[in-house]
Amino acid sequence: MKPRHALTAGFVLLLAAAPWLVGSYGQTLLDYIGLATIVVLGLVLLTGVGGLTSFGQAAFVGMGAYTTAYLTTVAGWSPWWGLLAALLLVTLAALALGWITLRMSGHYLPLSTLAWGLSIYLVFGNVQAIGGQTGLSGIVPLRVFGWTLSTPRQYHYLIWGVVLLIVWTVHNMLDSREGRAMRALKGGSLMAEAMGIHTTRFKTILFVLAAQYACVSGWLYAHMQGFVNPTPFSLGQGIEYLFMGVVGGIGDLWGALLGSSLYSMLRQWLQDFLPHLLGRSGSFEGLAFGVLMILILQRAPEGLWSRVRALGARWQEGGAPVRPAQAPELGARALPAAGEVVLQVQDLTRRFGGLIANNAISFEVRAGEVLALIGPNGAGKSTLFNCISAVDRASSGQVRFLGRAIERKDSRAVAAMGMSRTFQHVRLLPRMSVLDNVALGAHLRGHHSFVASAWRLDRAQEASIQATAWRQLERCGLAGHAGAPAGSLPLGLQRVVEIARALATDPCLLLLDEPAAGLRYLEKRNLAQLLQQLRGQGLAILLVEHDLDFVMGLADRVVAMDFGEKIAEGLPRDVQKHPAVIEAYLGGVDEPLREATA
Ligand code: ADP
Ligand code: MG
Repeated sequence: MKPRHALTAGFVLLLAAAPWLVGSYGQTLLDYIGLATIVVLGLVLLTGVGGLTSFGQAAFVGMGAYTTAYLTTVAGWSPWWGLLAALLLVTLAALALGWITLRMSGHYLPLSTLAWGLSIYLVFGNVQAIGGQTGLSGIVPLRVFGWTLSTPRQYHYLIWGVVLLIVWTVHNMLDSREGRAMRALKGGSLMAEAMGIHTTRFKTILFVLAAQYACVSGWLYAHMQGFVNPTPFSLGQGIEYLFMGVVGGIGDLWGALLGSSLYSMLRQWLQDFLPHLLGRSGSFEGLAFGVLMILILQRAPEGLWSRVRALGARWQEGGAPVRPAQAPELGARALPAAGEVVLQVQDLTRRFGGLIANNAISFEVRAGEVLALIGPNGAGKSTLFNCISAVDRASSGQVRFLGRAIERKDSRAVAAMGMSRTFQHVRLLPRMSVLDNVALGAHLRGHHSFVASAWRLDRAQEASIQATAWRQLERCGLAGHAGAPAGSLPLGLQRVVEIARALATDPCLLLLDEPAAGLRYLEKRNLAQLLQQLRGQGLAILLVEHDLDFVMGLADRVVAMDFGEKIAEGLPRDVQKHPAVIEAYLGGVDEPLREATA
């Protein structure tokens, strides 16, 4: 058994024995910790995985609690129907809120969750049908398999069962195709979308899941407590949930547990202990608590779990991953016949205000050909790449890929058609393993959803994705780095990881933006060999490169650009000798003039 699994098993046993180990006071506290953990687990998904912040989780807890309280007391429903109704209501509310805010970047989400938390709290306190400030009481206890749960001890297994179920399913979910897509949200939407990941969809999923967990916590709370009032669903409580996550370590499922346990226990302890010490009661505990939390955050800015993990890393078994078991690779698409036109750029113009970054550029790329795009800095090469890959829109002109115009397509659709790219400024997920980064490229080639992966129904496909990613790593000579965090590689090699990721999409056209930058001589030679091999297999490759020597030995044809204009096109030898190209590359004397025109 691996140490990690042994620890988990030990923890589960301890939880199972807990009702016999703690008194009734401790049991109540433990139940509350479990309820908070359920909410914070949602925040681990939302904030830790998706990089989104919500202050409004307490409002979702309250919606869960109030819905079931109302339906069971006033309408006489069973609690289980109450749960269903609460989940439905919360899901609709989260979808609506998400629909409005998740497309906008920046502070919109945190701010709107603040507003949301505030307004729902006011609703709870002011609507007389749900009891106003007094709330609702006489909520029936839960019945599970004929057992009525009426004491905190009896709720223990249900609450912690829910916690463990969420930990298990979320853990499974994150370790899958759609889970990787969720983790990719932190790398910015540009890269994710270029890999075919629908970022708004995944943000919405995370937001809804987090709201649903909060709802379940509220439902359990209402039935355990027997009454509800607005107090525990205030904005302040919403902020406290976020705090628990941050203190524990928002990047890790166990961090949620650590955070909510520590937070709840410390808070309780200070409340009981400080008034004794000071001989009078007051709100000192609030102050002391705040100071303590700030100290913890200052000592462990990534949360306390990262400290625990650092300790654990010492015993961890060696990190070198092995080749995934002999799973079949994902099926590959049929490539166009060599010489067939794959990409056609016609009169493409891109203006940024008064600046013409690309002016009426035309060229073609054929299957089984390497076309190099050269030109000094600022010539407009990356802009052209962005327009071709539908990351950016041309002001006028046309791009046809495999005979179809891409004007109306987004970068996901273009990726799905078989165009893949790397970025001039490397866009990898630095903490994710090299293998997982590459597997991200295979996103569109799988189909299992996060629901299937939560229950481990996607394993055969996942093994194929891993095998495919591994194969691309081998192809690019990076298999030895498969288990390393991508950010630990030298920048030059990170570019090669991007090529492997692009290859994992199974492209027929590869766009490489300065792939050789930062590589050493030998690495450059290997890269050139790889590209030659890919060309031999029928791929079309369009590459932007600065290093003329690299281009000359590799490219079949060269297009040279300067100031957004195509200044030459032809065989490498000819373009190299072209007066306009020599002028563009050697014309350093013109620099001041250039800047004036730019
Ligand atoms: P290259 O990749 O050849 O070095 P770029 O395509 O990055 O050149 O840039 C071409 C020109 O377009 C530069 O003058 C640059 O400042 C300008 N440019 C690029 N992107 C933008 C943008 N988003 N907004 C305004 N100007 C831009
Ligand atoms: Mg560039």
